[in-house]
Amino acid sequence: MVESIVEFFKNLPPKACATCGNDIEEQHECYSNTCESCTMV
Ligand SMILES: [Zn+2]
Repeated sequence: MVESIVEFFKNLPPKACATCGNDIEEQHECYSNTCESCTMV
């Protein structure tokens, strides 16, 4: 069961900013669709 969960996350596409398209590094508990710079606007 644990392995299937790992597979699930492996298959997730890398998060990209909806505004600028940059990859989003999930540093905080932030689940927005925009990167830090675009969120700060
Ligand atoms: Zn952005």
